[in-house]
Amino acid sequence: MSKAMQQATCSCGFSVTSGDEDEVVAVIQTHAHDEHKKEMTRNDVRAMMKDV
Ligand SMILES: [Zn+2]
Repeated sequence: MSKAMQQATCSCGFSVTSGDEDEVVAVIQTHAHDEHKKEMTRNDVRAMMKDV
């Protein structure tokens, strides 16, 4: 039962790690919007993700 975790790190250093890709996308989208006034698509976030 080893499930890959996904990690995405913002250019500012903020990072989120979760086993739930939807959660990673949601957290990064909210962060980008609130902190950078930037809208990120799901594909934008997925491009930042790596397995950890
Ligand atoms: Zn950021």
